[in-house]
Amino acid sequence: MNRHIDFCILGGGIAGLSIADTLSERDIECLVVEKNDIGSGASGTPGGLVNPATGRRAKKSWKAEQGYEAIAENLYKVQSYSSNSFFQKNGLLRPALYEKMARKMKDQYENTSWPDDWCEWKTKKQIQEIHPGITCMDGGLWLPVGLTVDIGSYMVAYAKYLKKAGVEIITNNDPKEIHQQTTDKWKIVIEGEIIIANHLIYATGHYTKETKYWDWLPINPIKGQVAKFKKENDPLSFSHSISSLGYIARLDEEDTFIQGSTYEHDFIHLNPDTEGEDYLRKRMQRTLPKLEEQSALVDQWAGVRTSTPNYKPILGEHPEYKNLHVFSGLGSKGLLFGKFLAEHYVDHLTNKEPLYPEIAIERFEYNIGNTD
Ligand SMILES: Cc1cc2nc3c(=O)[nH]c(=O)nc-3n(C[C@H](O)[C@H](O)[C@H](O)COP(=O)(O)OP(=O)(O)OC[C@H]3O[C@@H](n4cnc5c(N)ncnc54)[C@H](O)[C@@H]3O)c2cc1C
Repeated sequence: MNRHIDFCILGGGIAGLSIADTLSERDIECLVVEKNDIGSGASGTPGGLVNPATGRRAKKSWKAEQGYEAIAENLYKVQSYSSNSFFQKNGLLRPALYEKMARKMKDQYENTSWPDDWCEWKTKKQIQEIHPGITCMDGGLWLPVGLTVDIGSYMVAYAKYLKKAGVEIITNNDPKEIHQQTTDKWKIVIEGEIIIANHLIYATGHYTKETKYWDWLPINPIKGQVAKFKKENDPLSFSHSISSLGYIARLDEEDTFIQGSTYEHDFIHLNPDTEGEDYLRKRMQRTLPKLEEQSALVDQWAGVRTSTPNYKPILGEHPEYKNLHVFSGLGSKGLLFGKFLAEHYVDHLTNKEPLYPEIAIERFEYNIGNTD
């Protein structure tokens, strides 16, 4: 017998779980199908930042306030479903590494209206008081609002939370058969069971581009490696995270931290490698030379993030297939954008709220009949 459901979501990463959560909050029935384990894609990153200041100029991110509010609330909500503390509001230091960078950062800071208590300009002396030994040529930013997250652990706890809230999550199942059942319904075959869904959402990260429905989208896969290091002999003397030529994510452990990340546009395998470690060590060397000398590699991880031409996510319904949706392209800001945009999309679906044009799928050209 066929089983009927309102929404079927493919993918158990930040995008998929955030959409499932938002639907469930609105009492809309949904099912998540993940082909591997929860958080086995980019959302398995062992240490990442909620960093509202982006790029070399530390520009305030697009929709930073809304994104931050949504992720912060969500992290606190999910935390009790994990035995380890997977996030902390430990602040973020952004030293300027050279004079020109400092000038541009300061200009940007002075011309931006940051929410109260989010961001402060610091002189070089003040930066080095916060973090002795850090490379800083000329000032920088201190963002007390910065959050550091073990994203993989967050995902595992998020799935537990959702199951408790009544969302069914099927893992280690790669649905081979996905067809349009009627003009507005989708048929998904999972372990011989036929699911008929009113809506099908691809929240499949960089795999999205591999499917015939979405291969026309300009999703650019970028491999990223991060490494976990242990400071030998004594505990770390700082509790904040750092964003400078990549990032140093300081989690809730006294002597280990994550150094991220590489940006590999051409890659031939998905594993971490020694080139990745060397690159990350060099980055750490530039920011904290002493720490680099004293740190030993504990673990290394690699994942693939997705970028788009305007560096913004992609949300929307397929131009040709009714009730077929995509949520991808979260890039390096999955935490900041995931829950906020899931809420935005569910508002769009349920209340016909217009989508922000920057993220709407309509910004890309599609020729009807592309799929065949
Ligand atoms: C090295 C690195 C560092 C990062 N650092 C940060 C950071 O500091 N801050 C930040 O906010 N973000 C960071 N990110 C980005 C963030 O991790 C991503 O934006 C986010 O995880 C993307 O989530 P997603 O759900 O779109 O994709 P994914 O997490 O990749 O999830 C897609 C899921 O879909 C599953 N899937 C694929 N095809 C199918 C199918 N047909 N059926 C069922 N399931 C399927 C996959 O197995 C996968 O689990 C980083 C990413 C990397 C790689």
